[in-house]
Amino acid sequence: MTKPCLACYLYAVFVLLTVSTSLSAPSPASSLYDTFLQCLTQNTNSITQLSSILFAPTSPTFPTLLENYIRNARFNTSSTRKPLLIVTPLTESHVQGAVICAKSVDIQLKIRSGGHDFEGISYISDEPFIILDMFNLRAITVDLEAEVATVQVGATLGEIYYKIWKTSKPVTSKVVKGNKTIRASVVALFLGRANEVVSILEKEFPLLGLRAENCTEMSWIESVLWWDDDKNLGAKPEILLNRDLNSAGFLKRKSDYVQKPIPRAGLEGLWKIMIELGKAGVVFNPYGGKMNEVPSDATPFPHRKGNLFKMQYFVNWDDPSPAAAQNFINQTRTLYSYMTPFVSQNPRSAFLNYRDLDIGVNTFGKNSFQEGEVYGRKYFNDNFERLVKVKTAVDPENFFRNEQSIPVYPSKA
Ligand SMILES: Cc1cc2nc3c(=O)[nH]c(=O)nc-3n(C[C@H](O)[C@H](O)[C@H](O)COP(=O)(O)OP(=O)(O)OC[C@H]3O[C@@H](n4cnc5c(N)ncnc54)[C@H](O)[C@@H]3O)c2cc1C
Repeated sequence: MTKPCLACYLYAVFVLLTVSTSLSAPSPASSLYDTFLQCLTQNTNSITQLSSILFAPTSPTFPTLLENYIRNARFNTSSTRKPLLIVTPLTESHVQGAVICAKSVDIQLKIRSGGHDFEGISYISDEPFIILDMFNLRAITVDLEAEVATVQVGATLGEIYYKIWKTSKPVTSKVVKGNKTIRASVVALFLGRANEVVSILEKEFPLLGLRAENCTEMSWIESVLWWDDDKNLGAKPEILLNRDLNSAGFLKRKSDYVQKPIPRAGLEGLWKIMIELGKAGVVFNPYGGKMNEVPSDATPFPHRKGNLFKMQYFVNWDDPSPAAAQNFINQTRTLYSYMTPFVSQNPRSAFLNYRDLDIGVNTFGKNSFQEGEVYGRKYFNDNFERLVKVKTAVDPENFFRNEQSIPVYPSKA
């Protein structure tokens, strides 16, 4: 359900009054809308009525559209800056038109595919902005013979898994193993039969003591449902198609990479702080194995050989007060600070998917390159230079930018 938005209502009344009392001088918002619509008409190749994909804050559907894909409630407050327009393309041509027109009116364009960015940077900004919202572009094709899936950016993972399941039927064993200290659980998925994983782990990790009775065999799609939520066991795969619109809680995430074993005392210190803090937790994702086989410069993602595991610091909460946000965000910062001696250094690497604006932001002033280097090296290590080269060649004006985007080289002028 859409929450009523008093500010939008008052704004709509204001615009109506302005238009009715001064027809020759439309409000700035409606004039931007008209200019943009005209530009879209000239720059798209489409039979669609373009007013059906362009929304101003005065449109009754604007708040719903904006909130549907806000996936972190921290960025859904009355004081969060709202976009000047939302464009919801139905075709590639609409996307091209939106980019051309945002450039021509010289307003920042924020692009949102699923809206899951942990810091909300696909739908918020400190400067006036327009959202290009890709949720309608969700086609998925799976070619089993060629082993190729083509996925449009607005599709969800649930939709992709569902489509793959509909097209093929692989088998998985799920392995569940629990232990106790402070509470620690080892949960893993293995693509194959239970006896295979038991014999592999007998050799590779005998200390775990995995036995066949710790494993549950199930089809791949059942394992997807279970991974999504334990309570989904036995549910129909169709629940993967549920987009859970406008359902966000409050979140904060940070990340680290661990490259040498953490001494016992270090781990015990971590458990102690977690107990004292009470809410924030950590997740360890094992690396090694296949991850070691991919060269660190094969893709922009550099965290390959040499990493034992990735850490996620997480906290979720429901209390909307700023004091609660401050408290819970600080809890993750305290854990991150404690872990300093145990994690990667120079740079202290981070995982791009766990977007964290604490590790540096860009203000796009004269130090934009240096600012970009701070977070860029953490996310991309030595691949940062190559990304800057590509960025400078493709988008020298830095039109596509966000709080942590790849900067361009400083101009020589
Ligand atoms: C509840 C939750 C759970 C999560 N769980 C995991 C997890 O288990 N593992 C994991 O790795 N990550 C996880 N994430 C993080 C998530 O995978 C990343 O944030 C990912 O980038 C989200 O993709 P999106 O399309 O939804 O992002 P968006 O918020 O839409 O976009 C992310 C960034 O990419 C830009 N962008 C989006 N679309 C385009 C485009 N078409 N062209 C150019 N730029 C674009 C945006 O402007 C923004 O800067 C989770 C996030 C949430 C909120």
